[in-house]
Amino acid sequence: MRTESEIIGRISRGLADRGASKYKANAVRLGIGDDAAVLRGSFLSRGGRNADDLVLSCDAFLENIHFLANVHSADAIGYKALARTTSDLAAMGALPRFFMLSLALPTSRTGPWLEGLITGMARAAREFGMVLIGGDTSQNPTVVMNITVGGDLADGHGLTRSGAYPGDGIYVSGTLGAAQLGLELILRGLYRDARWKRLLEPHLRPKIQLKLGQWLSGEGRQRAIASAATDTSDGLSTDLTHICQSSGINARIYAAQIPVVKVPKQLQRLGLDSLDLALHGGEDYQLVFTVPTAQASRMRRVYRGVPITRIGEIVPAKKSGRQKGRGGSSIELVDAAGKSAPLTPRGWDHFKRS
Ligand SMILES: [Mg+2]
Repeated sequence: MRTESEIIGRISRGLADRGASKYKANAVRLGIGDDAAVLRGSFLSRGGRNADDLVLSCDAFLENIHFLANVHSADAIGYKALARTTSDLAAMGALPRFFMLSLALPTSRTGPWLEGLITGMARAAREFGMVLIGGDTSQNPTVVMNITVGGDLADGHGLTRSGAYPGDGIYVSGTLGAAQLGLELILRGLYRDARWKRLLEPHLRPKIQLKLGQWLSGEGRQRAIASAATDTSDGLSTDLTHICQSSGINARIYAAQIPVVKVPKQLQRLGLDSLDLALHGGEDYQLVFTVPTAQASRMRRVYRGVPITRIGEIVPAKKSGRQKGRGGSSIELVDAAGKSAPLTPRGWDHFKRS
């Protein structure tokens, strides 16, 4: 059985790496392996100068895998479906412009349920400044959605996962683990309890970080503040590992500095641990990014109301054995007592053996 990254690797070798076509060489600035793909605007506009690059990403959103139709409202499903896909544009520092929706659903959901889905998705589209330009519909026993999003990036600008360098600081936006806490309440059947209602919001309607991503990328006018970035869709331990692998470096993070979700005492007794949720919980859709020392003075503690926290630093990759033994970890976690241990990525993987 293959893991998710093995499956992506196989697809990439079979389909993305075959033959260096003229199109690929000239048009594709960034292909498979990052939060989104980037096509060169200068190529698309046949040599036009100062043409914006086109950024593209897509995401599947499936009933019983990503949401439960008897728990999640159609409105929340519609909002989140577009938000989670657009979060990949935030991770690139791109300006969202359009989306395409491929939707399969049972006949029984084509009435009020579909109305709710459209209402939620339209709210997200308004918030992000996006317009639907096409798609496809089909009938299916469960709801299956695939959303493609597109945005602009100033020529040659944008954030990738591959630019981190030893000495760079590692930062995260917002609070980590909040979305997973909401999901845990649902999985444990506690979501109807009025006391915890507020805790469900980050899971139901994640706030994505478009403005922060654009600011970190230099907004096409100046040098980027961040050297690498990704969004926290699968969980910090997994997402930061993606930056480490793409950049060929390691990371050291400090448990005491991570902005962890606050777990009420009654829920702690159920085994819900703040640090565990923050390290491995998915779907926060915050940004994790690295900043070179030379740009550190431009960093802020808060950007447009969103707290930003330094949680560690990039260190050189170990020469040997980095991928062997110790679960292939490239992250070192220093606990509150100063003791350090390798952090194994335990975030979301669709094909993980449990
Ligand atoms: Mg992403």
